[in-house]
Amino acid sequence: MIPRIDVRGCSARKNFTGKLDFSFDADENWLDIPYVEFASSVKAALAYEIFSDEKAEVTGTVSFALKGLCSRCLATAEEEIVFPAEGVFSPSPEDEEYGYANGYVDLREFLRDTVLFALPQRLLCKACAEDETENE
Ligand SMILES: [Zn+2]
Repeated sequence: MIPRIDVRGCSARKNFTGKLDFSFDADENWLDIPYVEFASSVKAALAYEIFSDEKAEVTGTVSFALKGLCSRCLATAEEEIVFPAEGVFSPSPEDEEYGYANGYVDLREFLRDTVLFALPQRLLCKACAEDETENE
């Protein structure tokens, strides 16, 4: 379950910072590496801060595992990914900010974008990954 941030409620209670730890299932459609799938749900460890102009900043990490076949040699491969998450939410968003309405920040679009950024182009088994590092 992806929680929402109750910006108005937090502001009213003068709780301007908080933490959110939760897991959610990634959409298999996000992944377009052949023969690779999510091996776990996505864990999000986030902290938020609400500012006086009602903007909310969210930072933290998302982590998940991928499993499937190596993109080079088709051996079984697995990878754990930990990726930084950072976003700003605003009732009147500018530039890279995410919008929100009715006092609640919905994290779904932000989390989808973060996981998409975190996904590698391909999955390599240990042997192939070492091989590539040596050749660099
Ligand atoms: Zn391989």
